[in-house]
Amino acid sequence: MGLLIVISSPSGGGKDSVINALLKRFPNSARFVTTTSRPPRPGNREGVDYHFISPEEFRNKIEQGKFIEYNFYADNYYGTEKSRLTESLNKHALVLTQIEVNGKHNLDKAKIPHVAIFLIPEDLAKLAERIRRRGGVSEAELKERLAIAKSEIQASQDYDFKVVNAEGKLAATINKIEAIIKNHLKTNV
Ligand code: 5GP
Repeated sequence: MGLLIVISSPSGGGKDSVINALLKRFPNSARFVTTTSRPPRPGNREGVDYHFISPEEFRNKIEQGKFIEYNFYADNYYGTEKSRLTESLNKHALVLTQIEVNGKHNLDKAKIPHVAIFLIPEDLAKLAERIRRRGGVSEAELKERLAIAKSEIQASQDYDFKVVNAEGKLAATINKIEAIIKNHLKTNV
């Protein structure tokens, strides 16, 4: 049974870069692909970034009890499918998932063991710039994501670890998280 690591950060906070780097550093690790009703952004790939389904399909899966946790964020559904997570944890030593704070709290309620790491952006103005550069969101959506970011930072108190992701210091952030995970693997075997 693999170790589940939750990596959360506000939108544009660097989760993807951190997870991609960690995947190269840990053997037998995988990024968990969650399911969403949001339309793909430019460059997004089915089954790689997300499993993209319609809002109706998503609601059907909720009714069928397919999700361990799900959340409605910025007008779209996002969720962790139970069977996919079990399969991934059975296959890998380390499974990294990027869900937001409500999702982490729902994993707690469902008593799903995990280690939760929150990436804190150094500066909200720089975060806005990053989200804008990535593209695919309107100014109104950007505003909404920044408002959510503020409340997410406040709601992140009960994460196991919080790491400031300073602008231009991504390598240092990745090293810190690698050390946290190694330490956890060492003390829990
Ligand atoms: P984005 O639209 O930028 O890809 O994702 C929006 C937010 O949804 C991000 O904070 C991301 O971490 C979160 N998210 C992605 N998948 C899931 C999921 O399965 N469950 C929950 N609770 N949040 C998710």
